[in-house]
Amino acid sequence: MDIELVKCECCGLKEDCTQDYISEVKLKFEGKWLCGLCSEAVRDEVNRGNSKASDVEEAMRAHMSLCRKYKSNPAIRVADGMRQMLRR
Ligand SMILES: [Zn+2]
Repeated sequence: MDIELVKCECCGLKEDCTQDYISEVKLKFEGKWLCGLCSEAVRDEVNRGNSKASDVEEAMRAHMSLCRKYKSNPAIRVADGMRQMLRR
């Protein structure tokens, strides 16, 4: 199987993935590849059906800005950011 190093559009995490998996994820997220954590968070956001995050693109944008915010502070992990997002 073909393995490719791919980078998460949200948090910048790099992962070795099969090309099949990469294209599968890209199909779901408007041509962007998200790591497991980020895609999970975006999916949650979409499933909750918030008015502002009712589609994948909106949810992805929300999650990306959250990721960027927490990336600037290495003490806070993405998981913490997600917990905060769920509380909102
Ligand atoms: Zn990520």
